[in-house]
Amino acid sequence: MTLIAASIAVHAADEVSAALERARAATAAGANLIEWRIDGLAEEANPLPAAQRLVRESPRPCIVTCRPTSEGGEYRGEDSARISLLEALAASDHPPRYIDVELATYHRSENLRQKVRLAVTHPRQPRDLQTSLILSVHDFARRPPDLLQRIEAITSDDACAVIKVAWMARSLRDNLESFELLAGRRKPMIALCMGPFGLMSRVLAPKFGGFVTFATDSANDLTAPGQPTIDDLRRRYRFNSISADTKVYGVIGWPVEHSRSPNLHNAGFSAIGHDGVYLPLPIPPEYEHFKATVGALIDAPGLGFRGASVTIPHKEHLVRFVRERGGRLDAMSERIGAANTLIVGSAGGLACANTDAPAIVASLCEGMGIARDRLKEKRIAIIGAGGVARAAVGGLLDAGAKVVIFNRTEARAQRLAQDLAGLVEADSARLAVGRPDAISCGCFHAFINCTPIGMQGGPAPDESPLPDDVPLNDEVTVMDTVYAPVRTPLIREAESRGARVITGVDMFLRQAAMQFEMWTGRPAPMAAFRAALVT
Ligand code: NAP
Repeated sequence: MTLIAASIAVHAADEVSAALERARAATAAGANLIEWRIDGLAEEANPLPAAQRLVRESPRPCIVTCRPTSEGGEYRGEDSARISLLEALAASDHPPRYIDVELATYHRSENLRQKVRLAVTHPRQPRDLQTSLILSVHDFARRPPDLLQRIEAITSDDACAVIKVAWMARSLRDNLESFELLAGRRKPMIALCMGPFGLMSRVLAPKFGGFVTFATDSANDLTAPGQPTIDDLRRRYRFNSISADTKVYGVIGWPVEHSRSPNLHNAGFSAIGHDGVYLPLPIPPEYEHFKATVGALIDAPGLGFRGASVTIPHKEHLVRFVRERGGRLDAMSERIGAANTLIVGSAGGLACANTDAPAIVASLCEGMGIARDRLKEKRIAIIGAGGVARAAVGGLLDAGAKVVIFNRTEARAQRLAQDLAGLVEADSARLAVGRPDAISCGCFHAFINCTPIGMQGGPAPDESPLPDDVPLNDEVTVMDTVYAPVRTPLIREAESRGARVITGVDMFLRQAAMQFEMWTGRPAPMAAFRAALVT
């Protein structure tokens, strides 16, 4: 079992009561260990009584760490003073379960090494009360070039009980090395990657037998970059159910931190009892990054990577990647050259699919109250010419509708129409590009917003993409693909003017449900999906 350690920084003696209160809250949230970071406290004139109280009243077994600035901590004093403090704690009636000392400190002088060794083999302590030593390596810039040598030095030191290595990940691939290190360990080991790329190493530590993962009780009080909260770890990422067999999924994009997909799919896996976990997987925009990273995830031994949702800017990259690897494309990905779903078979076979297009078509049909084949009678205006517009145009042409594309940059709309012209070979009048200022004259049965206008945090959160003079009534349907907020300015305006409306949540849930079914072979639990979207 991988333990969750709540890392709590204590800067001064007058913070001890509040810190103990935080530790009790962290314990209630699911922490198995408390790491007391006494970097600040240790700089006070007489820190021992306060540090002893932290250890004595700690609601869980604890690690005491006093990290110097040279390894990313806050302690600026003498090494000998902080090591003496650790030694005194270890010799007290209530010693900490672990002390953490940096390998560099341990190797700095024979005197320091002797003090540390004495702390963890104190003759006055019965064996089961003795403090154990964690020897650690940190690099806040990159993977240390001599990482393997340092791990070997720690492994072969008999005073050390636990190896800890943590470095700043520069890509998702750093996590894969942390898993290899864990798989090859000869002692209990903590191997973690820091920063926005490192979440995977923290969440998947149980898959590879990591000894501890660190989390915070408060997102505002991290002791290392990229630490998740205990609540995220346990609820969103299902930490306690992760084992060597757990399958791994995620959302690939740039950026992806704000994606709601992890909430949705993890809640879905829980609801049907699927042994899977779904993570944000940030990959920089260039195809070379996508190819190298996704290839490494698929090939990583023991990872069990089984699929991903793929979003901006990688939807076209996914099609190219699956083609290059000789995988299968569904008909829609083939036709429109963009896909949002990667499926990895247990033997490594690849497939990709586009679930955006069928989700848009299904949402529209339900909102209009018609069967799919009646789209042949409908004229639909698409606003935007990016990735979502491509899926909307592709899906609607496939279903037989007439489509006009309106985009701020008309040339981009022309390019999209050219790319998809093959879908209407026999009837080219079914696809046209409109001048952006002519949208009011088109007599459309439906309008679909495929721009970020109205999106919270987007370029125009308070605006609607539809001009005031567009005629709206109860025979016209207005669909937004923006889903945050649910009731966008467009939806509110269209509703107030009597039109039928479809929110972006409908499309979002449908495209996700189709992905879920492709990965698990089971229908998506829609109630769990909906509940996860509002939490
Ligand atoms: P994209 O590829 O970046 O395309 C954005 C489009 O919006 C472009 O046509 C762009 O026009 C236009 N645009 C951007 N800002 C504009 C502005 N201020 N005024 C007028 N036009 C503007 O993005 P995408 O992947 O298609 O995504 C579009 C939206 O779909 C997202 O913002 C998101 O809210 C929504 N979405 C919904 C779902 C869902 O499941 N419901 C899934 C994915 C995305 P130019 O060509 O002139 O730049």
